Amino acid sequence: MQGVGFRPAVYRIACQLGLSGFVYNDTKGVTIELQGKGDDINTFLQRLQSKDKPPLAQIASCETVDIPVIEAEDKFTIKQSNSAGTALSQVTADMTTCIDCLTEMADEKDFRYSYPFINCTNCGPRYSIVKTIPYDRPNTTMSVFEMCDKCSAQYTDVTNRRFHAQPVACPSCGPKIWLTNSKGKTIQTETDAVIAKTAQLLLEGKIVAIKGVGGFHLAADALNDEAVKRLRQCKRRDHKPFAMMANSIEKIKKHAIVSNLAEEILKTPQSPIVLLPKKKDSSIALSVADDVNTFGFMLCYAPLHYLLFAQGIEVLVMTSGNVSEEPLICKNDQALEKLGDIADAFLMHDREIYRQVDDSIVHFIDNQPVPLRRARGYVPTPIITKQTCTKDIFATGADLKNTFCFGKQNQLICSEHIGDLEDADVYHHYIESVEHLRKLFEVEPKLVACDLHPGYLSTRYALSIPNVEVMKIQHHWAHVASVMAEHNVTGPVIGLECDGTGYGTDGAIWGCECLVATLDNFERFAHLDYYPLAGSDKASKEAIRPIIGLLKKTYGDNFKLNDFKWLLDRIEQDTEKQQIIVEQIDKKINTIQTSSLGRVFDAIAAMAGMGNYNHFEAQLPMALESIIADDIEQQYDFELIETDSEPLLLDLRKMIEQIISDIQQGADAGVISAKFHNCLAGALLGMAKSARESKNINTVALSGGVFCNRYLTNRLVKLLKENDFAVLFNRAVPSNDGGISLGQMAIAAYSISNK
Ligand code: ZN
Ligand code: ZN
Ligand code: FE
Repeated sequence: MQGVGFRPAVYRIACQLGLSGFVYNDTKGVTIELQGKGDDINTFLQRLQSKDKPPLAQIASCETVDIPVIEAEDKFTIKQSNSAGTALSQVTADMTTCIDCLTEMADEKDFRYSYPFINCTNCGPRYSIVKTIPYDRPNTTMSVFEMCDKCSAQYTDVTNRRFHAQPVACPSCGPKIWLTNSKGKTIQTETDAVIAKTAQLLLEGKIVAIKGVGGFHLAADALNDEAVKRLRQCKRRDHKPFAMMANSIEKIKKHAIVSNLAEEILKTPQSPIVLLPKKKDSSIALSVADDVNTFGFMLCYAPLHYLLFAQGIEVLVMTSGNVSEEPLICKNDQALEKLGDIADAFLMHDREIYRQVDDSIVHFIDNQPVPLRRARGYVPTPIITKQTCTKDIFATGADLKNTFCFGKQNQLICSEHIGDLEDADVYHHYIESVEHLRKLFEVEPKLVACDLHPGYLSTRYALSIPNVEVMKIQHHWAHVASVMAEHNVTGPVIGLECDGTGYGTDGAIWGCECLVATLDNFERFAHLDYYPLAGSDKASKEAIRPIIGLLKKTYGDNFKLNDFKWLLDRIEQDTEKQQIIVEQIDKKINTIQTSSLGRVFDAIAAMAGMGNYNHFEAQLPMALESIIADDIEQQYDFELIETDSEPLLLDLRKMIEQIISDIQQGADAGVISAKFHNCLAGALLGMAKSARESKNINTVALSGGVFCNRYLTNRLVKLLKENDFAVLFNRAVPSNDGGISLGQMAIAAYSISNK
């Protein structure tokens, strides 16, 4: 990767050890020629791979070979790299302020003392400020700031930490901050006063829009329930949990349980939001994250954040500066226009954000960090494959939680989280982003991969691109392939796919599948038996729809609405609507057949009293997960039905009957939830065992949005391992639809290289 200070580090170590030779980048990586004493060369190799390795550099492999002595060589040089046709991506991700910069920022004698934009080769913005390649200062939004002599001297000194650090700046030559009121009228311009006033406003319970690295945050005091409630109201975000920021692990530990691994992830240069179990005695306002059992915390990651927190702030809600599900706002004028009714003040700066990048979110599955949203800090770092893309490929992703992906040679470059394409602004942002990244990575796609769903905007977009071959890929096959791509396997694997919605090859909506898959093909080995689901778009929001569908499936012709009035009236007061749903299913109007597990979760959650509506995706399932009673090993019954012609069918009718009976008898909702989750883990294990028996495959790949459920996934992984399966799951991209583009890419890349 370029721009992480690798060649200067090589230069420094070589010079210190008195070695001669040179270093350059080419398409294969970095080549270093060294001449000197054998011991010194060994020391060089050791130091380069340990204490002197630049913090952001990763050495994938290191090979050495002896060459003849070059007589006249007496010094070490950095050779100009040949960038034509380079396979190395030029742009790196935005990284958290490093410890050296923080130390300088706190040092009154340093000329960058208290400067909110301090950065160096080891930290600071990259991806968010690049307009075009090559990655040089004139091609970034820093081009408008002319470096002063002091900054310039550091920038051009190969032994300096700021050698070729493109965003280098200081108080006299770089960007500045100021504070405005909600109308855009400037209140403060002097740095210390801006910081002090902002902190004061926040501590008084005000909402401040703060421009950061990848966009605006809306900030409020997380200990002040009234402030958080007001933010919730204004942002039209009724229920979704808010992320929070603190300036130390110790402060986070007051409110959440932080494991050693979680602490490690919080402190990485990527600085994601990490989901942590709540502490019962936490003083965080209830309205921050109701109905879930975790808090999302991140550490400060920009110098500005540290300066602000130094003013006595404990914990801030730091939620994306946008309205509802619209794209993150990153421009000053746009912020005033769109957030003027929400924020009481705006902390602005004049370092333009060229690309908005959301905060990334990480949680833990089987004690390993797993992304739920991959964006700032991780994008655009490519995923390296063994499989070489013989042509450039573009994968359009899915419509929900969209990301897209470019394939070039052995690099798969996934975009950051874009959002739900059904929002017109998000779709517009998607089209622009595709074009921007295509240019940034010099990709000329000849093959475009997309979802099989004919109604997806991402599919229609693929079909609208002229002069390319389009490959339509089944949604759950893409989910499995995303796991295969990450783990560099081509299959066959047993793919267990638990998901909300995915268009099937038979036109039904799939969502609980056991696919025996390679990157070349898949067979639908087993699935949840179809149940009817009425009401298309509304079906994923209103829990009454899957409930009635599952009841009709379970009780067949014996189903009578009146028998279930006691239950259904709690969930949907409009009894006429209940009747209409029944009729829609009977007459097959606006009704689909589905094996969606996400909708089963919605139904069970609502029956267990968790509410009746998903205000945001997976709200009901997350609430159901959060109440699971401890140490319950019981589970509801399921059946796996074998037929000659059909795939193996998972029958959950007994489970539905038992749940209804438990509810009738007033069983504890936490116990119902545990028995339900346990039943599914058992059923999925059963599917995997049947597939192993019949196909003689021992590797299971888990993917799909339902596997964002920690209880279910942890339990299933444990069961599978106890039964001697090799278990693979997503580690680099989310298991939800944010990972679809990588899977599409893997399948498309395989198809062209093996044609
Ligand atoms: Zn730094
Ligand atoms: Zn300067
Ligand atoms: Fe999906």
